[in-house]
Amino acid sequence: MTRFIFITGGVVSSLGKGLASAALGALLQSRGYRVRLRKLDPYLNVDPGTMSPTQHGEVFVTDDGAETDLDLGHYERFTGVAARRGDNVTTGRIYSDVIARERRGDYLGKTVQVIPHVTDAIKAFATADVEDEDFVLCEIGGTVGDIESLPFLEAIRQLRNELGSARAMIIHLTLLPYIPSAGELKTKPTQHSVKELLSVGIQPDVLMCRSDRPIPEAERAKIALFCNVRAEAVIPALDVDTIYQVPVSYHAQGLDVQVCRYFNLPHDEEPDLSRWLNIVERVRNPEGEVTIAVVGKYTSLIDSYKSLAEALVHGGIANNVKVRLTWIDSQIFEREDTVHHLEGVHGILVPGGFGERGSEGMINAARFARERDVPYLGICFGMQMAVIEFARHKAGLEKAGSSEFGSQEAPLVGLMTEWTKGNERVERTACGDLGGTMRLGAYPCQLIPGSRVREIYGTEMISERHRHRYEVNIDYKERLEAAGLLFSGLSPDGVLPEIVEIPGHSWFVGVQFHPELRSKPFDPHPLFTSFVQAAVAKSRLV
Ligand code: GLN
Repeated sequence: MTRFIFITGGVVSSLGKGLASAALGALLQSRGYRVRLRKLDPYLNVDPGTMSPTQHGEVFVTDDGAETDLDLGHYERFTGVAARRGDNVTTGRIYSDVIARERRGDYLGKTVQVIPHVTDAIKAFATADVEDEDFVLCEIGGTVGDIESLPFLEAIRQLRNELGSARAMIIHLTLLPYIPSAGELKTKPTQHSVKELLSVGIQPDVLMCRSDRPIPEAERAKIALFCNVRAEAVIPALDVDTIYQVPVSYHAQGLDVQVCRYFNLPHDEEPDLSRWLNIVERVRNPEGEVTIAVVGKYTSLIDSYKSLAEALVHGGIANNVKVRLTWIDSQIFEREDTVHHLEGVHGILVPGGFGERGSEGMINAARFARERDVPYLGICFGMQMAVIEFARHKAGLEKAGSSEFGSQEAPLVGLMTEWTKGNERVERTACGDLGGTMRLGAYPCQLIPGSRVREIYGTEMISERHRHRYEVNIDYKERLEAAGLLFSGLSPDGVLPEIVEIPGHSWFVGVQFHPELRSKPFDPHPLFTSFVQAAVAKSRLV
């Protein structure tokens, strides 16, 4: 029997509902249950793919090619369960499906309304494709009280009735602000937020209260009284020093026991939290430190690079070091005389990006890494810029550029107009839609024997997640290889360059895919492990 846990949030946004859901998923797993996590996003975009990373944060790409909310990244990193297209839905997607059905005549002449048609579509999404999972955790994006959230709350109210309390539970995450002048944690915002939920017919079963300090018993009892939950079901969600401590800390506060109790499941035995204790121990007690500069375009919002930052932490865990990240806006390197800022870093990472702004700065950063033998990892755009740099300064192609920035004399990076997906041919034109039309999701890549990446992965055929519209032009392969760049990974048909590296450099790798999306704290991605290891070696030299 699959049970559903709906997670809502109140008081303010950014309380870490995604992380809370992911950590609860991990806790239930540690008790031997199978879990799946889902996110229902109330905004009107069909998916976050067309949103600016500085607006929305990272777009997380699934194996099956969906562009999804970054919380799905947390879910994967905490549970290891690969997210699928059906695990993230938005109001935009729900409405476009409902309207398409209306146009087809599927509603047989009825007036199409939010209730029941939109709410039915939301319920169908939340409960679809459930296999043998013991729990499906559904996070509702946004904050209770938002206009956009209403159809989602109504849908979970209905689902709770239909499934019954034996199969559905509501967890509400709130904030207890500390007021220094009163010297107190305040419960009123939580009371108001629960009242807001009650006004749409939802009584939460468990409250998780974010707080920057321990919550006194009296306050806990007060919240329980006013919000109509048992005192043990008011779970303090205290700030912690590393996100990987969250499952351990929720367990200490009794969250998993409350969930098991609610569903009448056994809870006397302690769950096996050794995986998390081990990770936290390594994060807290590193044997050294390395500094890695991330030279990107969206550094004003660190969430733009959420998975990347975590993958670097994982690389640190694998090498027993702390990875200190220096976020640098690539635009500052557009003037070559500023590149000395990179002096002394132990590794340089240029991540994904779109558009011309800041690209010359990335090219200069890649040049610094190549010439100064600093370990370099270029991801997607970061690979493309490294290839342009190499072409300009090592292969005599001074006019090398990307057609993403306009027509080029030497289009080292060009628009992909067709490629193979499985047995199918995919075609694109320069003037097509931008939403959902990139080369998205997992594609295989063949590694060249004797290359560094072949050694790092320890296998010949790999599969990694992609999100790009442009691609290094295979026509330049011979010329670039003659100048010393190795095309060490290619699509199996040999047409799309997937990885480049510079033999003889201490560590210089560019990948067209996003390895950060697959890294887990308990299973660090080999490229990040190897990159951080190279940074450690560099730190011993400088
Ligand atoms: N803008 C580049 C492209 O579309 C790179 C994309 C990325 O870095 N994810 O190919």
